[in-house]
Amino acid sequence: MNNIKYLLLSLFIVLFTSAFFLYANQSFLFGRDSVNFSSVLGVFIRSSIELSLMFILLSFFRNRWIRAGISILFALILTLVLSFELKYGGLSHGIVASVIDSTVKESYEYVFSVNLGVEVLFFILLFILMLSISSIKSNCVYFFYIPLLISSLLVLSFYHSKKERDDGGEKEPLFAYSSNILSFANTIKETFEFIESEKVPIVNKWSAVKVSDENVNYVVIIGESVQQKMFKDEVVSPAFSEITQHWLSYTNVISPSNLTRFSVPRILSVNNNDNVNKSLNIIDLAGMANLTTHWFSNQSQTGVHDSPIAQLSRKADHVIYHSFDFSFAGYDSILLDDLKFALTKNSGNNMFFLHMMGSHPDFCNRVEYDEAHPNYINRNQKLCYKDSVRSLIYFIDAISNILSHYDTPYKIVYLSDHGLTDINDSPYKTHGTKNKFSRDAVHVPFVFVDSSIERGNIEYDDRLYFLRDFPHTFASWIGVTSANTMPSLSIEKCDSCQVPYVYDGITKRQLN
Ligand SMILES: [Zn+2]
Repeated sequence: MNNIKYLLLSLFIVLFTSAFFLYANQSFLFGRDSVNFSSVLGVFIRSSIELSLMFILLSFFRNRWIRAGISILFALILTLVLSFELKYGGLSHGIVASVIDSTVKESYEYVFSVNLGVEVLFFILLFILMLSISSIKSNCVYFFYIPLLISSLLVLSFYHSKKERDDGGEKEPLFAYSSNILSFANTIKETFEFIESEKVPIVNKWSAVKVSDENVNYVVIIGESVQQKMFKDEVVSPAFSEITQHWLSYTNVISPSNLTRFSVPRILSVNNNDNVNKSLNIIDLAGMANLTTHWFSNQSQTGVHDSPIAQLSRKADHVIYHSFDFSFAGYDSILLDDLKFALTKNSGNNMFFLHMMGSHPDFCNRVEYDEAHPNYINRNQKLCYKDSVRSLIYFIDAISNILSHYDTPYKIVYLSDHGLTDINDSPYKTHGTKNKFSRDAVHVPFVFVDSSIERGNIEYDDRLYFLRDFPHTFASWIGVTSANTMPSLSIEKCDSCQVPYVYDGITKRQLN
């Protein structure tokens, strides 16, 4: 009788976890295959294997506290797996690295999705169910879980060999099953190894640098999470024609990666495939061009580990960080105060890097110019995102205005570190990693302003350009040549000259 009770309860847990994972999978199905019989079966089999392994493990322990501990741990890990599925389409090395670089509060934002209710419900129910089964008898293991495990693995291997035939013989391992929990642990371990491998001191390696002797103030604005399609919609608005008439806007530009942590180091350093050469960074290059370098950041400097961006920023002559945490970050206008103050000390031959908080979630916290605006009060995330992009246009204009108070000519370039992928749930946009990857996740605005060029109307250029070669564009922009730069890779020279790839975290993928 007891065996039947355990059997039914176990079956219920398997169905229950399957249902949650199907729900998680369904939430990112835009543009992908819809749920069909084999995807449902796949999730069901996966859950059966995972839980059978868990119950077999539990049967080894007689002590009920140990069982309760294992149940909590198991429920917690599966909840985290579900969280990452919901928010980012799965746990990737990139997301883990971003979490490791973050402060505690910020990690919380990375880990827990907007579906917090779903996650809490899943955790509590799974834990209660696990606990109720933790007085499991060992005969149950022999009569039920071990046969369930073996039959599930057999169905899975049949499924894979069928898939192999259907796909025209692409080799699949016999048991392509990988445990959620083991792959979760493995991703974390590999990320720590990756971060360790990054820890190489930055030594300036630029050689044969030739500089121009023009006196110009330069500003590189590194934006955050701005989708080109949203930016374009605002830029064409007649309300902004006064501001944008001086702009050259590239409309088909692709960021190096879909995450800040992997995108910005590539924007700042000469890179080729997996090799990012931080010893050839544009901050050092600007210094060699006799410019005074400034790094003003409204993003957080560092978390548990020093991020590669923080490491690069310290190559500047003057460094200011305003935020220690995304949640407490103030408005980006604080960077304008830094800029004004620095110009009073030294009004020429400057290179300013302004790292914005931009359109980072919570979008409503980024909208300064009209706090009384109803979008802000109602915290309508869709409208707040739009407002954050409008704020950006005002921000670029404010920089032009500040620089125009001085006789020194100025040049501004604005780029966004990455875009975002549209999703159905609030806040309706997310970092597009893994299954949530989309062109919008890497399609970004790229704008130049030059005080010496009178345009009268915004100018557009729609050539495809991969922003990972920004250091080459940067060198021509400041009139510098070096043995390490390739003028043919700068945007004005390059038309379809690059291999089309981007990085989804640390994984390279094609993009045409
Ligand atoms: Zn970012």
